[in-house]
Amino acid sequence: MTPALLCNQTCVYCWRPLELLQGFDAWDSPEYIVEESIKAQHRLLSGFHGTEGVNRKKLNEAYRPNQVAISLIGEPTLYPHLPELIEGYKKRGFTTFLVTNGTNPDMLEEVNPTQLYISLTAYSEESHLMLNRPLKSFWDRILRSLDVMRRSNSKTVIRLTLIRGYNMHDDAIERYAELVDRASPDYIEAKAYMYLSYSRLRLKYENMPEHEDIRDFSKKLEKATSYRIVDESQPSRVVLLSR
Ligand code: SF4
Repeated sequence: MTPALLCNQTCVYCWRPLELLQGFDAWDSPEYIVEESIKAQHRLLSGFHGTEGVNRKKLNEAYRPNQVAISLIGEPTLYPHLPELIEGYKKRGFTTFLVTNGTNPDMLEEVNPTQLYISLTAYSEESHLMLNRPLKSFWDRILRSLDVMRRSNSKTVIRLTLIRGYNMHDDAIERYAELVDRASPDYIEAKAYMYLSYSRLRLKYENMPEHEDIRDFSKKLEKATSYRIVDESQPSRVVLLSR
């Protein structure tokens, strides 16, 4: 789910309709969002009742969600009541999974999700300006977010969105290793950019790496860091590394 239908970047690889995510300046209350997101989950499930072969036990469990991914469309740290939203979910017995682009370290200082996940594509300020296309450079803020991650009590993950021809070369790997060292996350997730939806207006099919490319990249990252490959998913073209 998302509490903020807007973003402060316009990444070349974003699948979302960035052109439509503008002009929102009114916020729902955290209590309203918690309640309505659970109702929205119920609405999603309603069609399964008439479907043959559905596991009834699992369907009933799905009516009582206890894990929320605060992500999806837009940058959730732009929602001004994010700490209260996370606490609201916790009060309902949820674990919370916050995904951010790292441009709002002040907000990250305020929140305490079960899992903190920073999505990183850039390895330098130059690549940040080219790949994330922000309103202004947020590179200093992203570096500060990595420092917040290092001190965080949450489970922490750095996700690298990898685009062939842009951020997979050896020099980028060396720079990523420095950033990883700075943030000291529990996990690194190396993931292929997917040629989907609106991103197809900005990138080419050839920019989508194969799973083999992600594996090769991850092996090089192993050499450059103290992280080791622990799992992978070929259909998602993702490799997981852990300390
Ligand atoms: S930060 Fe995320 S939501 Fe925002 S433009 Fe980039 S990929 Fe899209």
